[in-house]
Amino acid sequence: MANEDFTKDEQIVMEDPGKLYNQEILPIMPLRNSVFFPRQMMPLSVGRKSTIQLVDEAFRDDLPILIVAQKDANTEKPTPDDIHKQGTVARILKVYNLPDGSKSVFVQGLYRAQIFNLVQQEPYLKGFVQRVEETKSEGIEVEALVATIKNGFRKAVELAPDLTPEHLGLILNTEDPSQVADMAMWLINVPVNEKQEILEELNVGERLKKANLFLSKLVQRLELGNKIQTEVQDEINKSQKDYFLREQMKAIKHELGEDEENIEINELKKRVEEGSYPEEVKRTAAKEVDRLQRMHPSSAEYTVARTYLDWILDLPWNESTTDNLDIKDAEKSLERDHYGLDKVKKRILEYLAVRKLKNDMRGPILCFVGPPGVGKTSLGKSIANALGRKFVRMSLGGVHDEAEIRGHRRTYIGALPGRIIQGIKKAGSNNPVFMLDEVDKVGTDFRGDPASALLEVLDPEQNFSFSDHYLEIPFDLSKTMFIATANMMEPIPPALRDRMEIIEIPSYIEDEKLHIARKFLVPKQQAEHGLKEKQIKFTDEALRLMISGYTREAGVRNLERKIADVCRGVAMEVAAGAKKSFTIDNDVIVNYLGHQKFFPEISERINRPGIATGLAWTPVGGDILFIEATKMKGKGNLILTGQLGDVMKESAQAALSFIGANAEALGIEPDFREKYDIHVHVPAGAVPKDGPSAGVTMLTALVSLLTGRMVRNDLAMTGEITLRGAVLPIGGVKEKVIAAVRSGIKTVILPKRNEYDLEEVPANVRDEVKFKFVSEMPEVLAFALRPPKKEDKPPARAEAAIAN
Ligand code: ADP
Repeated sequence: MANEDFTKDEQIVMEDPGKLYNQEILPIMPLRNSVFFPRQMMPLSVGRKSTIQLVDEAFRDDLPILIVAQKDANTEKPTPDDIHKQGTVARILKVYNLPDGSKSVFVQGLYRAQIFNLVQQEPYLKGFVQRVEETKSEGIEVEALVATIKNGFRKAVELAPDLTPEHLGLILNTEDPSQVADMAMWLINVPVNEKQEILEELNVGERLKKANLFLSKLVQRLELGNKIQTEVQDEINKSQKDYFLREQMKAIKHELGEDEENIEINELKKRVEEGSYPEEVKRTAAKEVDRLQRMHPSSAEYTVARTYLDWILDLPWNESTTDNLDIKDAEKSLERDHYGLDKVKKRILEYLAVRKLKNDMRGPILCFVGPPGVGKTSLGKSIANALGRKFVRMSLGGVHDEAEIRGHRRTYIGALPGRIIQGIKKAGSNNPVFMLDEVDKVGTDFRGDPASALLEVLDPEQNFSFSDHYLEIPFDLSKTMFIATANMMEPIPPALRDRMEIIEIPSYIEDEKLHIARKFLVPKQQAEHGLKEKQIKFTDEALRLMISGYTREAGVRNLERKIADVCRGVAMEVAAGAKKSFTIDNDVIVNYLGHQKFFPEISERINRPGIATGLAWTPVGGDILFIEATKMKGKGNLILTGQLGDVMKESAQAALSFIGANAEALGIEPDFREKYDIHVHVPAGAVPKDGPSAGVTMLTALVSLLTGRMVRNDLAMTGEITLRGAVLPIGGVKEKVIAAVRSGIKTVILPKRNEYDLEEVPANVRDEVKFKFVSEMPEVLAFALRPPKKEDKPPARAEAAIAN
């Protein structure tokens, strides 16, 4: 409630009320959180029941009251100890009843007074109150103090939000020093105890000093508060400003096309413009960048478009390596990396020479055919090296889906280019040597025909514009040099085979493997395991034992692994601080590789009539195989086991029929079929076997069984038979002969009409064995079966021997 609530005539004109009341019994009103000064006026809210009664009675009796400050504002019902003894006597000018039952009282301060003696505590305090007189002061010092207080007050008004210019006006218009101090302290917001101190100070000079002190403390506090406030404000302003500037910067960048998305787009644009791309690629890429610009960067579409752009911009459309067509270099590179393979190397060099003269790489695709581990891949790498081209390879084994070659259309989720384009990207040039492994293993099924896609890749007439479903822009593959590899020729789709120049790489015999191991595999593995040359030495015997006792393969892949195993073992010992150098001989090899796995077993296996050694041809090279026959009481049934294919089963039937028809001439009881059941088994039963070339061996085994004559144990044979007993030619002569030599066979029986195929067999291999060419079965039997002897009878427990 403010002063304006009073009408003009109710305003009290100041008089000297001290004269009116000198010492009296007055009601005492405690004031919670302020100190009231003489000559001031203020509205008071009165809520306490006792105080309301006090106000009512005093106002009714027109009695002044003593207003004293409570020592603690929180005390609800102050006792005499809870109040200051000195206060201000005041007159109640007006009482307002408020709707909530409380009252608003307008009081006017009259003079300083002190409680002498309390006469009543309930319902409110009452006591003898005595006026106290102040000591007046005058002089320059007082004037100066008054001026200083006025100045200080001016500052306070500037700083304190609760002081107004009207307050300042009041002070400035007051002349009485005592009143100046009182009013200043009354108006400003300082602690109650400071105000009380002023009230109690009766010496006006001292009062002025104290008031000045408290005022300047307040000003300081206000200034400090203001400073802090300004700093906080500054801080807030600054962050607001920064935010604002940043927003502006964003807008400006966006206008200039320099924001993040734009930077990406701009970079792409620059790549498209400055990169060396064919016209069509540039056009498509530019269109795609435009599309990208209109998309939201977090949309899935954006990622798809972005990936596509990356693909087409990353592909080496126009990047080629320069060819080194020096045939001498190529020769050196091939020689450096490979032992033997003379015919193969010559064919490769011829091929390169023709390419050089024709000055392009078009022409039939080279296809290396041979068992695993004979160096097909490493030949390809050597060619790439010699030409100075990049080398990439991709396996076609198990590729059934055309899309793997040609890619998926971009409408598929997660679509990517096919493996050809992936390989080209990996190579980083458009003319790498690109090796397509296992072309004999591409499958055709409902997912499309990968072979026809391959045809397009390999056909020089078409592959200058190879279309990948993902890219949609044709890629020129005509500079790429494709080399295919296969284990077998037959399964290669004929259309593909037609386009390829087949180079057969035969298996190795032991001597060749020994050379390869010594010259290439050992140095390579030793270096790879961080061993020095003098730290590890393999004896020839040890290497031979590793070749024959620990591996049985056409190539040298497992041999290389075994050598690596030994090197690893040695490296471990060296690292553990063992001796400095190791010699690997037959005695220590078991420490590194465990026990020998393969044994030259032919002589042991041929231990009774009914067993013969044949030669087989498998995708992993030639191999020897045993055919075992046995008879038991029965009715002429033929039992065949060992996962034989239909053709092989028919060979067995044919052999039996031939024997039946020629029993007498062969020295066999003619009615053997009525007495016995015959069982033919080909061991290694888990491996499926088929083909007609085992006919000769089946027949020999059966005749051996029925005549009781043993088959020579240094002999292996191959050939198809007819019902008449003619021996027909077979395939895979080279691999079979090599396998025979590898197994320690001394003589090989071959069909007469295969005689010319021997030219394919390397001369050194040919020198290792004797050949017997045959065209009729009786020749085979006469040569292979030992003369009948008593001791050739089957030994007891023969069945157990077979089971082993
Ligand atoms: P493939 O591709 O025919 O299966 P790799 O090329 O992978 O065989 O050859 C297997 C390992 O044998 C390679 O380390 C290779 O260098 C080595 N190798 C094969 N043949 C020879 C050889 N004639 N001379 C030297 N190293 C050879």
